[in-house]
Amino acid sequence: MFVVMRSGATEAEINGVKGLILAEGLTPFENAGTSRTVIAVVGELGKRREQLKQRLEATAGVAQVTPISKPYKLESREFHPEDTVIRIMDTAIGDGSLTVMAGPCSVESRDQLMDTVDFVAAHGATIIRGGAFKPRSSPYSFQGLGIEGLRYLAEARERSGMPVITEVMDPSQVDIVAEYSDILQVGTRNMQNFSLLLACGRASRPVMLKRGFGATIEEWLMAAEYIASAGNPNIIMCERGIRTFETFARNTLDLTAVPVLHHLTHLPVVVDPSHATGKRWLVKPLAIGGVAVGADGIMVEVHPDPDSALSDAEQQLDFGAFASLMRDLLPVHEHVRHLHDEFEAGEAHAPGTGAAASGGNGDGLSRH
Ligand code: PEP
Ligand code: MN
Repeated sequence: MFVVMRSGATEAEINGVKGLILAEGLTPFENAGTSRTVIAVVGELGKRREQLKQRLEATAGVAQVTPISKPYKLESREFHPEDTVIRIMDTAIGDGSLTVMAGPCSVESRDQLMDTVDFVAAHGATIIRGGAFKPRSSPYSFQGLGIEGLRYLAEARERSGMPVITEVMDPSQVDIVAEYSDILQVGTRNMQNFSLLLACGRASRPVMLKRGFGATIEEWLMAAEYIASAGNPNIIMCERGIRTFETFARNTLDLTAVPVLHHLTHLPVVVDPSHATGKRWLVKPLAIGGVAVGADGIMVEVHPDPDSALSDAEQQLDFGAFASLMRDLLPVHEHVRHLHDEFEAGEAHAPGTGAAASGGNGDGLSRH
């Protein structure tokens, strides 16, 4: 359940509510929202539910106690109506700007990474991607450079001033990956690796959670809930395609998930058209599609010589294709931003509503 505090509730009153929750062996999670504080009560309530609700309602500073309708609590808009914005170095994810995570599928060599980073940095990328630990379908395929790859990524960060995202495959790698990079990536194959999710939840770095290729949106949000419930609220959701009956492309990019997630959760959403399609000529149209439906950013694979890549050769963009993608993508983002701002301004002026009013007007531009 959620405890909604009165606006202007004092710190002592908030602490009183938290103390009562803790005394029950449950965990309070606080969201100090812009208008008022909400405290989520997390844990197995069982038969105590009604009695605890009444006690909380009678506690100083409490406006109301409401049941949480969703199984994911900390990720729901009910608990946290405002968009989560994740700030790393000079960039922000989820603030309305366009996040562009670009780089090779795998870090293959120092030169390959630096050449790619120099190019994408000069053409609008905001975050460097590159796999050091690779989750390959075959044990005989290239498995990544491991720690050597992490060192090159850290060097690329120094060189470009951009943060680095890279995959972590196992709880035992979380510390080392967090030491060399800025965002931990959990891959599609690990979306329900609960011990990995909990380990990422205890880490001090933001986490990008890729959608399991067979996961529903609710299962994906529950995976995010594992990370948040372990103490890490900085999560980015990444739609990277799901497996359907269609076999032409590597996966089917579920663009519906983007506005659905913006409706259900406050977390930023990124679309990965590279892994979604597996074909380089499909990357641009689907990156544009992702941004057009409101994604906060994209993740794309870029390689100096895609045909010689040690992994995902068919879907990596060469430099010219990345430049062309950025040229066409930026005006689409500008346009979507403009529509969104106009919509928000209209909401704020409409009587009886406000920018944060839920429901929207059904035109798909409101996130709520
Ligand atoms: C990746 O981004 O390097 C990757 C392996 O992606 P996914 O987990 O979506 O397959
Ligand atoms: Mn790849």
